[in-house]
Amino acid sequence: MSQELWAQVDDYINSVVIGSDAALDAAAASAVKAQLPPVSVTPAQGKLLHLIARALGAQRILEIGTLAGYSTIWLARALPPGGRLITIEANPTHADIARANIEGARVSDRVDIRVGKALDVLPHIAAERQPPFDFVFIDADRTGLADYFDWAVKLSRPGSVIIVDNVVRKGGVIDSASDNVDVKGVRRFNERLKTDTRVDVTMIQTVGAKGHDGFAMALVR
Ligand code: SAH
Ligand code: MG
Repeated sequence: MSQELWAQVDDYINSVVIGSDAALDAAAASAVKAQLPPVSVTPAQGKLLHLIARALGAQRILEIGTLAGYSTIWLARALPPGGRLITIEANPTHADIARANIEGARVSDRVDIRVGKALDVLPHIAAERQPPFDFVFIDADRTGLADYFDWAVKLSRPGSVIIVDNVVRKGGVIDSASDNVDVKGVRRFNERLKTDTRVDVTMIQTVGAKGHDGFAMALVR
């Protein structure tokens, strides 16, 4: 098994379940052009987020980590008329690129981009006393992961779903001696998850165009 094969299978899967999509293809191309890190969800992962949000009938979605807005567009398209998605991005350049892509996908009416560090922005969102989020996608830096997850639980309701991306990190997650900040962030999150009575959770490892990684799915009790 190799990265090359995983990428070819992902291409094949995309040809079966997605095909070409002008707005998403443009968003992906913009990220390449701006030399952003190649860490957007793959098309098939984006569609999984979209389908979960739709299956939940999500009306309010929170995303932490926007990058070029690729996953944002998938999620925004799952919302019914009047639905709302708040996405948090620390890097103003990324936020500008995302804004253009979200406009290109004609979902800007539903999307609210908050520029700032998640741990600064989340307390503001809490202070706004909005209705709870039905679906949360956590995909920013992993240093703050455990804290983002706490906020996600706090800002949701029983039955809400929280997806946490990139929790396997090429298998790095099993290395208790790792000094990689991302691995340490995920491991700290996982340690707390073991005794977290607020959620029921699973974790799935994946291979594909973006390598060997995985995601966690939590259902809020
Ligand atoms: N969800 C996107 C990819 C996000 S990449 C997609 O799949 O298409 C991670 C993003 O999180 C980057 O744009 C990075 O700038 C942002 N980020 C990193 N640390 C952050 C923080 N503390 N608060 C908010 N955003 C952060
Ligand atoms: Mg990710």
